[in-house]
Amino acid sequence: MKAFAYVNATNEKDALAALVPERGKAVPIAGGQDLLSLMKDYILTPERVVNVKGLPTTIAVPVGPSADYAVVGAATRLADLAAHEAFRKAFPAIAEAAAEVGTPQIRNVGTVGGNLCQRPRCWYFRNEEFRCLKKGGARCFAVEGENQFHAIFGDAPCHIVHPSSLAVPLIAHEARIKVVGPSGEREVPAAEFFVMPDRKMYGENVLEPNELVTEVRIPIRPGVKSATYEVRYKQSHDWPIAFATAALTMTGDTVRSSRIVMGAVAPVPWRAEAAEKALAGKRVTEAVAMGAADAAVAEAKPMSGNGYKVQVVRTAVTRAILKAAGLLKA
Ligand SMILES: Cc1cc2nc3c(=O)[nH]c(=O)nc-3n(C[C@H](O)[C@H](O)[C@H](O)COP(=O)(O)OP(=O)(O)OC[C@H]3O[C@@H](n4cnc5c(N)ncnc54)[C@H](O)[C@@H]3O)c2cc1C
Ligand code: SF4
Repeated sequence: MKAFAYVNATNEKDALAALVPERGKAVPIAGGQDLLSLMKDYILTPERVVNVKGLPTTIAVPVGPSADYAVVGAATRLADLAAHEAFRKAFPAIAEAAAEVGTPQIRNVGTVGGNLCQRPRCWYFRNEEFRCLKKGGARCFAVEGENQFHAIFGDAPCHIVHPSSLAVPLIAHEARIKVVGPSGEREVPAAEFFVMPDRKMYGENVLEPNELVTEVRIPIRPGVKSATYEVRYKQSHDWPIAFATAALTMTGDTVRSSRIVMGAVAPVPWRAEAAEKALAGKRVTEAVAMGAADAAVAEAKPMSGNGYKVQVVRTAVTRAILKAAGLLKA
């Protein structure tokens, strides 16, 4: 690992002061689960590493008629989010996703901010020998190489899938992400926080190098029923092969409106608006959920080695809808 200076910022102000506008020079570190492995492999070689574990660790879920949104601090550990009873009751899809990340050790150290900002798992990106498009090179090695875990949507010049399990249910719940930087703070809808490679090749979200995520705000909508369904290789601790979140606004057993978002299938969490249209006004049954899942994958364009992911995500969407409607207990 390249030598670096360590800044132990204890609050947001000190952390921001230690960051700089040039990409890659100074980087935040929270739990270090992702950042340290990138540094050990010389994929990132920052001069300065800034501890941001002093950012908020709040989990606040207000109750009552005036409750507007829940707040989760960026430095909240995934294990704490998964175990928070009121949060789990209000947002089962998000709590379930947090509970499924990696292993207990990873969840005890990894944070919400770090999970959202973790870098892609593409094996060419993670290997210092390959200078692909994302690292300033001229080609994407996945196109003619090993692409069995890559994107089936998006048709971008870089075919990563976004690695965050939290991002997908947060978008389904219309969460907003609070970002602070030298010129103040702004709130970005989670659906606009992640960006496609043709808009930004060297990063996966809207953050500038000297900006931080400080909290996530999730609207409280008592009528919404949500669930996440993940498909993993042999139920291992590894990232899901594909997954989906369904957030259904229901009257009785009929869907008034919904948000269906798929994960591990595109460079950003992928919203399935065709599935949402297919569900509108329908009573949820297995056939209706399968019809919506068919609509969700209709535009998929798999690469040479990942055609199997179309069926995997179709199943994930079907089961997420059934689970959110209370028709699947698994
Ligand atoms: C075996 C294994 C299995 C895993 N499985 C899953 C899985 O199933 N699903 C999943 O989602 N993840 C999975 N992960 C990834 C893991 O969840 C993330 O690495 C972890 O959540 C990152 O959090 P951290 O706090 O350690 O981040 P760090 O490693 O400290 O940081 C990650 C990135 O975020 C940036 N960053 C951190 N905090 C902030 C902030 N507040 N503002 C702006 N930038 C910030 C850092 O600069 C860095 O680029 C797995 C990891 C391992 C090792
Ligand atoms: S998918 Fe993206 S990160 Fe992977 S090799 Fe292609 S350009 Fe690089």
